[in-house]
Amino acid sequence: MHVAGISYFKVIITTDLFQNAKAQLEEAYKHFPASKETKAVLENPQKVIQASIPVRMDDGSLKVFQGYRVHYNTTRGPAKGGIRFHPDVNLEEVKALALWMTFKCAAVDIPLGGGKGGVIVDPRKLTTRELERLSRAYIDELFDFIGPDKDIPAPDVYTNEKVMAWMVDEYNKIVRHQHYGTITGKPVSRGGSLGRNKATALGAYYVLKKACETQGINPGNARVAVQGFGNAGYHLAKMLYDDGFNIVAVSDSRTAVKGDHINPDEVMEIKAACHNKSMECVFEDGYVKDNTKYQKITNDELLELDVDILIPAALEKVITEDNAEKIKAKMVVEVANGPTTIEADKVLEKKNVFVLPDILANSGGVTVSYFEWVQNRQGYYWEEEEVYKRLKKIIEAAFDKIYHVSKEKKINMRTAAYVVALERLSAAIDSHGTEEYFKN
Ligand code: NAD
Repeated sequence: MHVAGISYFKVIITTDLFQNAKAQLEEAYKHFPASKETKAVLENPQKVIQASIPVRMDDGSLKVFQGYRVHYNTTRGPAKGGIRFHPDVNLEEVKALALWMTFKCAAVDIPLGGGKGGVIVDPRKLTTRELERLSRAYIDELFDFIGPDKDIPAPDVYTNEKVMAWMVDEYNKIVRHQHYGTITGKPVSRGGSLGRNKATALGAYYVLKKACETQGINPGNARVAVQGFGNAGYHLAKMLYDDGFNIVAVSDSRTAVKGDHINPDEVMEIKAACHNKSMECVFEDGYVKDNTKYQKITNDELLELDVDILIPAALEKVITEDNAEKIKAKMVVEVANGPTTIEADKVLEKKNVFVLPDILANSGGVTVSYFEWVQNRQGYYWEEEEVYKRLKKIIEAAFDKIYHVSKEKKINMRTAAYVVALERLSAAIDSHGTEEYFKN
């Protein structure tokens, strides 16, 4: 079964992902004097909910799926974060993703906390009706923990706007109100925001351009490799191509394609027409006029190409201590969540690679999700241009602040992003009073 708009891929099992996220936070503590209270509060998620979700299957049997929702921290606003449907979902991964959401929202200064959800399921093995029942059942089981003022889910890996439409419908049936602000990433016809589908890529594009200025990279001769050709990777590759960057490699889960001035739209057309919906057809006769212009490489080779900018836009933990030494890019733009391990980070830093961290580089998605929530609550919808203008303002201001802190404290952009977020989170946490305050 294939659900339109959901592309399937294997996510590496990430049992130590939460430790990786915590290690990034520990690094920030070295450069920001967080109070004991702040450290204690951020040590663990605020709430972890595990649910057994019963779903009647089409053959009459009952299957019980394991689902999670984690609220990492809600001091700055309701929890915000996607719901992932994937066979490899596990609690440690959901906790890591929820921690990143907390720091992402604080780094770009939007008034939301961090959360994340997931269900252990392979959606390819469900029929469309089973998928709808599972989506609705997730809301039935977790209803008490979500809501426009508590926790606002959104799509993530293997969930899409159709799944969000089912989920918000289920929520609204239970409360017997039209509460569209409960979920973001909805179809525009059901309260979604214009511009949401391109938001992650556009946010990354804005910060990438700012970073090019600081690093002296000229778009006219910059070579770019993009891993992952989904919502985020494809749109970003297209924006960069249209802006004159030289796209020299793109990839999906099945193959990677190397070339010169690759037109992402041409590859996308071939992929859409391909018998297995992959870009493998670039190498088959009949799909492209001149397929000598493309060379087949592996995803690992793509990461190690001699490029100016490398954009991991697919999976977690693809840049590790095993390949970090071989990365030749001058700049890495983390569109995927958690593509670089803490060990690899150290190697990249030594090699002077400028890393635009995920909590900044992919924050365009949650920023426009925030706009969707605001529009739902106002009942007043903005034009696409308005969405982009506001996104640019927020994300460029975040870049400037983080870059300034990184220069001032002589730390890398990831640690600087955590420091900026930590400053805001700790101000909110400590506003209730610290030990020093209560002692006096
Ligand atoms: P998607 O499902 O639309 O696309 C993922 C792409 O990655 C697909 O093209 C898939 O073929 C490819 N892929 C899978 N395995 C691969 C592999 N081994 N090597 C190379 N490519 C592979 O997903 P998306 O929404 O574009 O998200 C991609 C990443 O960006 C994820 O890490 C996600 O968490 C992150 N992200 C996305 C958004 C968003 O709004 N879409 C926001 C923030 C972060």
